[in-house]
Amino acid sequence: MYDYVIVGAGSAGCVLAARLSEDPDINVLLLEAGPPDTNENIHVPLGYLQLARTEVDWDYCSAPEPQCDFRRIPLPRGKVLGGSSSINAMVYIRGNPLDYDGWGVAGWSWGDLFPYFLKAEDNERGASRWHGVGGPLPVSENRSRNRIAQAFVDAGQQAGLARNEDFNGEAQDGVGIYQVTQRGGQRASAAVAYLHPAMERANLTVKPYMHVQRVLFEGTRAVGVEAQQLGETQQLRAAREVILCGGAYNSPQLLMLSGVGPAEHLQMREIEVLLDRPSVGENLSDHPGSYLVYTTDEPHSLLLALEPPALEEYEATQTGPFASNLAESGGFARVDAGAPAPDTQFHVAGLQIVDEGMTDPVEHGVWASPCLLTPRSRGSVQLASNDPSAKPIVHNGLYSEPEDMRRMIDGLRLTLEICGQPAMKLYCAEPFTTPEGDSDEALRAHVARTTYLVYHPVGTCRMGEDADAVVDEQLRVNGLEGLRVVDASVMPTVPRGNTNAPTIAVAERAADLIRGAKPLSAERADEAPSEPVAA
Ligand SMILES: Cc1cc2nc3c(=O)[nH]c(=O)nc-3n(C[C@H](O)[C@H](O)[C@H](O)COP(=O)(O)OP(=O)(O)OC[C@H]3O[C@@H](n4cnc5c(N)ncnc54)[C@H](O)[C@@H]3O)c2cc1C
Repeated sequence: MYDYVIVGAGSAGCVLAARLSEDPDINVLLLEAGPPDTNENIHVPLGYLQLARTEVDWDYCSAPEPQCDFRRIPLPRGKVLGGSSSINAMVYIRGNPLDYDGWGVAGWSWGDLFPYFLKAEDNERGASRWHGVGGPLPVSENRSRNRIAQAFVDAGQQAGLARNEDFNGEAQDGVGIYQVTQRGGQRASAAVAYLHPAMERANLTVKPYMHVQRVLFEGTRAVGVEAQQLGETQQLRAAREVILCGGAYNSPQLLMLSGVGPAEHLQMREIEVLLDRPSVGENLSDHPGSYLVYTTDEPHSLLLALEPPALEEYEATQTGPFASNLAESGGFARVDAGAPAPDTQFHVAGLQIVDEGMTDPVEHGVWASPCLLTPRSRGSVQLASNDPSAKPIVHNGLYSEPEDMRRMIDGLRLTLEICGQPAMKLYCAEPFTTPEGDSDEALRAHVARTTYLVYHPVGTCRMGEDADAVVDEQLRVNGLEGLRVVDASVMPTVPRGNTNAPTIAVAERAADLIRGAKPLSAERADEAPSEPVAA
């Protein structure tokens, strides 16, 4: 018997396991479907390019997307200690104050979450009004410094955008080099940052290869879970709470497999309904991205990782191409002149990316990608069947709101403009994947052909103060007892930026709620800026 059973050792699950087990009188069990994080490609930053479709990836894909030529779009998700933070691109971004204030949920405004971003953080730049030190999560300068990534920043300035040295500081707008969740040139996943240091504790049990199939209830109270490990089914009991941290696809899937979800949908899959909750799995949002690829004769791209000196450099100083997070530079812009905050983010890699990285590049090149930060379209996660091993059906509903396509086209046009500046000329010598013209129609066709998801799904177990919300403002599942959801799925809308740091901040605050500690915000709200400042 454990006090807390946590399902999923991803960004949120690792934070909760570490924080809740700080109290030696509390027994915590952390269950993870995937293996331990021993694969070297997890820890050497550039190595993550080799992880897609391996045993550490759930390897989901979307249902055919009508506005994207009916393509099924890959949806990688980490299935390993650290979850998606073990396979992600390590970009450290918190989002914009307006995101959290816009959630409109008591306790989750920017002022409430800002202290938890600081608490989590150990920033190489030192402590300041904007940054924390001494927290578990290392935030570092990029140690690759690929010159093509830098050229994009110069080109962005030539196109009229501001230079931004810190996207998590005074202003979010502008172009620059991203800080990354690394220490000493190695990935700092949530497992490395939070879980590994806590694993020696006698009151924390971590079980990998444990695929949770459903939550067990007595009446409406969650009392444990049923899980499969290497073909054997086990029941694991929780005296206090079961906490779902399976991520935005798997947490709603688990709720539905447990009889919590839209009644009709569950009945059609022969699942006994415990609680009719139509909002479970709905409200999915993610950042749709498009991209441009150019090739060049200039031998400066990350393809250099294939040459012996790159490995020698990494082994000697943990710098160079192997330290790259791929998307080294980028930034934030407003393509809609009236937008109150950035609506477009750029990710730029000094690499010819072919077939979403599934085919090896053969030439030096550059990949420049705009994504839409504030999509209005919504999708859903549904069950394919009552079989827990069946992949969920994910409809993103991309561009179902025509406004999203218009802004995506504008974002692509701005990216083309930046790539056409003198600083990028050398690297954008030959178009490889670019639109066939510059009309709206040509750009629309290019967006449809290239749209991918930037791997930031949220919203499928939405928190809220209304009766339809899946979880309340304490992240307890509405209508049930002893059950919470703590992961990216509880975010009502996707923040303007990458979602690992926001998920970690949400989990840090959830840990305080669960253990009944006074939330930090009351003491430190004065440190949080209330308005985003234009660059
Ligand atoms: C390829 C990629 C690149 C990304 N790049 C960035 C980036 O550069 N910067 C950034 O900030 N964010 C990035 N993200 C997004 C970020 O990593 C996620 O938003 C974040 O990790 C989500 O955390 P989570 O806790 O919600 O879910 P996850 O970290 O996905 O954790 C869920 C965990 O639960 C486990 N699990 C699920 N179901 C079960 C079950 N039934 N039984 C047991 N265990 C289960 C999973 O295996 C997984 O370990 C990226 C994501 C991906 C996939």
